[in-house]
Amino acid sequence: MSQFLISKLKEEYGCFFDRILAGFESKRVTTFRVNTVKATNEEVLSFLDERGIEYESVPWYDSAFIVRSNVDLRKLDIYDKGMIYIQSLSSMLPPIVLEPGCEKILDMTAAPGGKTTEIYNLSGGLALITAVEKNRIRADRLKYNLEKQGASATVIVGDATKLDEFFSFDKILLDAPCSGSGTLSDVNSFNDYLLDSSVKVQECLLNKALSVLKKGHIMVYSTCSILKEENEFQLDKLIKAGRIEIVEIDTDIFKDVLCLPTLIKGTVCVCPSALYEGFFIAKIRKIC
Ligand code: SAM
Repeated sequence: MSQFLISKLKEEYGCFFDRILAGFESKRVTTFRVNTVKATNEEVLSFLDERGIEYESVPWYDSAFIVRSNVDLRKLDIYDKGMIYIQSLSSMLPPIVLEPGCEKILDMTAAPGGKTTEIYNLSGGLALITAVEKNRIRADRLKYNLEKQGASATVIVGDATKLDEFFSFDKILLDAPCSGSGTLSDVNSFNDYLLDSSVKVQECLLNKALSVLKKGHIMVYSTCSILKEENEFQLDKLIKAGRIEIVEIDTDIFKDVLCLPTLIKGTVCVCPSALYEGFFIAKIRKIC
């Protein structure tokens, strides 16, 4: 593991460092979400039962399941038909916090579309979603997943920091590009350049998000990083500038989730573990 990351995590989390390290070292389980547009839980679970595939439910989400058998879900018919979406549990949390309904929603950095399709599902198919993705190859994957999942969204392939100010959204999900410090697959390649460049992109995206979000409306900011530079420090600058206020996240959802302390009350930082990737989530109201 990179020395730079070890020092950062020790500096920021002190006595919680060992817990984080244990989380990185544990083998991550496969989890999925039933795509309620195409299937019911009963249909998916009876498919699994018939094949002797073991699973567990997730206390905070009716549509989410943990796979306990050694099976490649990608080889199953239910995957092929878009009846399920393989997604980490942590990644399922931001759309739930967003509480999408029949409104204009911007998914600002959307590919491969796990959260876009989840927003569509949670809104009962009513959300008018605009999904932006800068990377062409990833944008193709986003379009493919939307179609496969039967979800509808307007896809813009381009840089979200350059979105026209003419746009105006009721809600925004900014699941920002980040250093990935919560999900590390290659812990050795982590360095200060990666962190600095992530922070710069996040700042630009946050500023643009605030310029296209309606005043008084809600945005969810999330990253798969647990470093404060990418999370609390980013929000702190906007709070001090009087541009946002934090809406406390209802922690009922998180009572079964192991969390790390955060510097801003009402925000959530999920601790890496076998079940969860490290993830930061904040619910924000635009003041001006
Ligand atoms: N929300 C996605 C999901 O749940 O499937 C994951 C998003 S991933 C954390 C961040 C994405 O942002 C990447 O696909 C990356 O290519 C894209 N991205 C990075 N900079 C961007 C920008 N300036 N405008 C739009 N997309 C950007």
